[in-house]
Formats: sequence, structure tokens, C-alpha cells
Amino acid sequence: MKVYLINPSDVSFGTAVITPRWLFVLAAATPAKFGDPVLVDETLERFDFARIVPGDIVGLSVHTGNALRGYEVGRAARAAGAIVIYGGIHATLYPDEAREAGHAHSVVRGDGDLVWATALEDATAGTLLPQYEGGRVPGDAFVPARWDLLPEGSYMWASVQTVRGCPKHCSFCSVWRTDGQVPRMRTVDMVLKEIVDLRRKGFRFIALADDNFYPVALKDLEMANRREDKTRYEELKEMRAERFELMARLAKLPKDSVFFTQITMEAAEDPEFLDAMRKANIKGALVGVESVTPEGLKDVYKDFNLSGDALADRLRTFRKHGVHVLGSFIFGLPSDRATTFDATAALAEAAEVTFAQFVMLTPFPGTLDFEKWEKSHGDTPPAFDGIPLTRHWLIPQSKRPKYYMPHPTMAHEEVRQRTQAVWDRFYSLPVVWKRSKCVGGLKGRLAFILISKLYRQMYANTGIASDSARQSRAQKWARLISKPTRRLFTGRPMPDLQVP
Ligand code: SF4
Repeated sequence: MKVYLINPSDVSFGTAVITPRWLFVLAAATPAKFGDPVLVDETLERFDFARIVPGDIVGLSVHTGNALRGYEVGRAARAAGAIVIYGGIHATLYPDEAREAGHAHSVVRGDGDLVWATALEDATAGTLLPQYEGGRVPGDAFVPARWDLLPEGSYMWASVQTVRGCPKHCSFCSVWRTDGQVPRMRTVDMVLKEIVDLRRKGFRFIALADDNFYPVALKDLEMANRREDKTRYEELKEMRAERFELMARLAKLPKDSVFFTQITMEAAEDPEFLDAMRKANIKGALVGVESVTPEGLKDVYKDFNLSGDALADRLRTFRKHGVHVLGSFIFGLPSDRATTFDATAALAEAAEVTFAQFVMLTPFPGTLDFEKWEKSHGDTPPAFDGIPLTRHWLIPQSKRPKYYMPHPTMAHEEVRQRTQAVWDRFYSLPVVWKRSKCVGGLKGRLAFILISKLYRQMYANTGIASDSARQSRAQKWARLISKPTRRLFTGRPMPDLQVP
């Protein structure tokens, strides 16, 4: 009997950008008596179901984006005789769907770190329950990933988590509702040990795959300090101190290490934090800008962000402190107008963000936006291939609409075309060349162009392109350039490196 852990994907590029962390965490959560699980990442290549023999156990983690492929994999695995167990955010939200559409024997809801072992024991004892509740595991109980199972030469970046959960409440995001609003931080020692494991293997680019690397903003501290009861203030101070301790230890790693994370814009008000990030070699961060107008920020409950010139200033602050920004913008908000697209492209350039992504507003399950949108359709949502729009992830890709939220003044196609045009503008060769100055040296600048091109092909053209020819061209391109690009990220293995 073998345990398979499969990360489902519709597209495989042969080389992937970031390691799907869950595979290596659940591998570590698999008790030794089951042997080493077989890890399958379909973003590298498709799984061959002929490998399954009856009695094998297949664990699948699905998010909304890969649920349809996940269900296909689950059905085929069950037909081949496997016991199929689902987990992940989407299965947590829709356990019944995983049973119906994905033929699940069982579903693990919430964090799988601790409960996975019980599900495996029960599966082999013939007492598997239809559902397990993993809940929210405390930070010091997060299971460290098993990087010894990492296939060589397949990934550009590794991923290590330092904190789960986010105290904010953006309307388009499910993180604060699934992972919770109380940040659960791992101990610094645990994080460092994993990073050193990876550096020993030659990974010098590591994504700190956190919901929000800056869980305590200065404003939160000020507010807590105004209360008579200082308990919360002391807790927040301690959390902040732990972040600084983590960064101080990261700073002692080899100087060619590069970390990337996800952070809220409020961090730009905290120069001490940004300086610590720079010293820790956290050289880039995804910052959710979302909208460049105050109305747009209100639309998504993110009015803690700035807009207009103040926003450009705030974003430039990251750069001044040596942190490159991957700005994330949303189009299709109710307050967006035709002029918003150009204004956003101009702001992204003026704010000197190094990379940017422009996504169309999509109602993802688990979010406030989704609930509102689902309700607005009442009992009779439009259907595609017999599948209601409110279950859009189940509609076959080729028939799936590209846009879900009706816009008060623009047609869907207009929003899509204008979004595509902003990608085209931001990633046009002369603009990327100009931006590449930030890395310096001809070799560095050429690498920057290659990475920008890859990013754009992987995310823009495969995501929002309307014609299948453009999509398949983009996939071929990504496949072609992902291998040489990976080499740019590898470092010299350091088998003797010690935890600082
Ligand atoms: S979008 Fe970012 S800041 Fe907002 S709730 Fe989600 S993780 Fe937190």
C-alpha cells in the first residue's frame, strides 16, 4: 500500500516557480509506518493513474482554481481502487461537493498538519470517517516540511511559512475567514531550520509563503496601547519582537539569499520594519494595492490603503528601503470606469513597482463578495452546461465565463480587454527594459527581462486571454523559458551550513 499526495493542475510546465508547500508538509505529517509518500505535482507533469493499485491512499488538496482537475483526479484514483481523501481550502468550504463531484471517501477540513495521521490510520483500519475536522493548528504545532523529498531541478523557489492568518478583512479574500484573523506564528527556530535545510540543497530564493508577513501594524499597537487593559498591547509587542528576531536571524544567512513575501501596505509606515526586512534579504513583497481610487478601496473594505499620489509615494517607500514590490491590482470594481485602467497603469509605473499583476474581480468562495454575489442570483442563477454560475469552478474551462460580476457601467468584454491592455503596457519590452535598471549589469538586466516575460506568460496570458490559441502559445512559451530561467535562481549547495 502506498500513500500518494497529488497537487492537481490543468497546466504543466515541466518546471514550476514555487514548491507547493502542502505536499511536503503532509509528507512530514505522514507517520513513518506508511513509508515515504509519493509526491506528485501536476504543475510539473500529469499523474499516470496506472501507477495506482487497489488499497493505495490518495490525498488531494484543492483550492477553487484547481478543484475541477482535483475532482477528475479523485474520480480516476477511486476508479483505480484507491481510497481518496480531500483537503485544502475548497474542500473545507464544500466537503459535500468533494464527495459528489470528486468521489471522496473522506474530507479533511481545516489544517491537515495533525489530523492527517488519524485519517491515514483509520483508512488502513477500515474505520475511515466521512469527515475530519483539522481546525486551526497553533503556530508552534505547524509541521515542518520534508524537503528531503524534493525532486531535483524542478522548482525555482522553495516556500516556507512563518505565519498563518491575517487580522484584516478584505471583502475579496478568504484568508481571514479560513485561516482566521489571529496570526499564528511559527517559532523562529522552526522557520530557520527549514530555510537552512533548503539552502544546503542550493535553494537561495525562498518565498515566505505567509498570509501577511506584517501581522502587527504600528496603528494596531497604538490602538491597543490606548486601552486601559494592556494585555493585548503586551501580546502585540511580543509578536512584533518575534518578527524582528526572525529577521535578525535571517540576516545571518549567506548574503546571496533572497526572500520574497506578502505584506500589507501599512508596512511602509514602519521604516524600522522595512530596514529589518532589507537586512534580512527580504528583497521583495507582494503588496495588495487593489485599487488606485478611494472609491475602489471602499468597494473591497480596504480603506486602510492609500490612493492617488500618496499611494505612489507609499509604494516608493518600499523601494527606498530596498524592498521590491509586486503590486497586485484588481479591475472590475463597481466604481471602476474606463479611465481607471490607464490611471492604474500610470500609477504602477510612477510608483516604481518592479512587477505587477492585474486581476479581474472574481467572486471566490469563502469571501464576503462571493456571499453577496451568490445571494444576488437567488434560486435561479444562469447555468453553463447545466452548471449554475454560482459554482463557476465546476464549469469546464473552455465554457467557463471569464467574468462573473456584472459591472454597473462597462460590459464584461470591455473590462477583460482593458485589463489585458494594461498587462500589455506594463510588460511591453521597452518598459521592462527601462525597469530592468533596478538590477544593474547587462546579465542581470537580461535575466530581469526573462523573468518578467515568464511571469506575464504564466499569469496573464493563461489566465485572462480569451482565445485558446493565445493560451496555448503562452503555455508553450512558459514551458520553453521556465527551464533556463530556473538556472538563474539556483545557488551553490552548502551542505555544511549551520542554523545561525
Ligand atoms: S487580502 Fe491580504 S490583507 Fe486582506 S485579508 Fe487577505 S491576506 Fe489579509
